[in-house]
Amino acid sequence: MIDPVKLTIELIARDTRVPEGNEAQSIQALQMLLENAGFSCHGVDLAPGRPNLVARLDPLGSGAPAIAFTGHLDVVPLGEAPWTRQPFAGEIEAGRLYGRGASDMKSGVAAIVAAALRHAREGGEAPVEIVLTSAEEVGLEGAKVLADRPGALGRAAALVVAEPTANRPAFGNRGNLWLDVHFKGKTAHASEPEKGRNALLAACLAAERFAAYDFGGARHPLLGRSTVNVAIMRAGANYNSVPDRARLGLDMRLLPGTDIDALLVELAGLAGPDASLEEIIRLPGSWTEPTDPWMASAIGIAAGITGANDVMGAVPFNTDGSLLAPAYGGIPSLILGPGEPGQAHQTDEWCEVARIEEAAAIYLELMRRFTPPG
Ligand SMILES: [Zn+2]
Repeated sequence: MIDPVKLTIELIARDTRVPEGNEAQSIQALQMLLENAGFSCHGVDLAPGRPNLVARLDPLGSGAPAIAFTGHLDVVPLGEAPWTRQPFAGEIEAGRLYGRGASDMKSGVAAIVAAALRHAREGGEAPVEIVLTSAEEVGLEGAKVLADRPGALGRAAALVVAEPTANRPAFGNRGNLWLDVHFKGKTAHASEPEKGRNALLAACLAAERFAAYDFGGARHPLLGRSTVNVAIMRAGANYNSVPDRARLGLDMRLLPGTDIDALLVELAGLAGPDASLEEIIRLPGSWTEPTDPWMASAIGIAAGITGANDVMGAVPFNTDGSLLAPAYGGIPSLILGPGEPGQAHQTDEWCEVARIEEAAAIYLELMRRFTPPG
């Protein structure tokens, strides 16, 4: 097997920080490896220099649904705090590999590709589709292009998302909705405020109502409940005028299956007649029951290799899987990757070296034991 640890280091060495991303070189290098192993590849760009890659191996030429794996190549910026490690050198010390993307998620991408090359070389029969994306960290933009463009994806019956879980199986996440709520009032001289309509006060009252919104009390055993964070407020320019404009910014984390359109109607009602809602980000949640037959077998395969029976259950972040799994037709989606979930976006980010090899072994076994349905 190509060494997934060495491949992780090579990927870390290529700086793919958003917003620019510059993922093209990394994705081209991986495309070459996959093509040499017999994968047929096609690119779906979201912008110049921002490619997505869909690579497919169909050893029997049957066109049957594949087992799909996905990972993103972009990483977040380094942050304000200084690093004590080189962020792009891939230093290894005491069993930890350091660098931006070590956990989120170049190790996951490297483990996918290493396992796929091995599967191809050993003559595995299961069809495998690998989806590598750009611009995940800025709102799943790469995956959105793949999900929206007909024919961009092949056929798949199960999906593995290699986001950091320390190789513990996870089954989903809440969705994410960002809203700006714009309030319109009427300005007046501050000496006669009763002649105006104060947009700032309207926003304050609405902010209280948003924060108290309870989503009908719905609760999920592992994902908890939907939440609202009233995050931003902007209003007022000078002391001696009644403010006639105000804006609230909301971050909502939503249980999968939430009817977002119906929610927006309710929120508009809470905001009042002088307010309008602007959607900034809308990402659906995702959930696969661990009792789903493929998921149950995948959990068993992972436990057999890690020797640990614990699962992560829910992850606190969005993944490309919440767009790709529905685009594949609502297939089961396992989140499992070698990175440490607590290391994502951290200063001095690291990943345990042993977990990278372990993830590659799990992915290979998932490929070997996959039988296309029907
Ligand atoms: Zn990630």
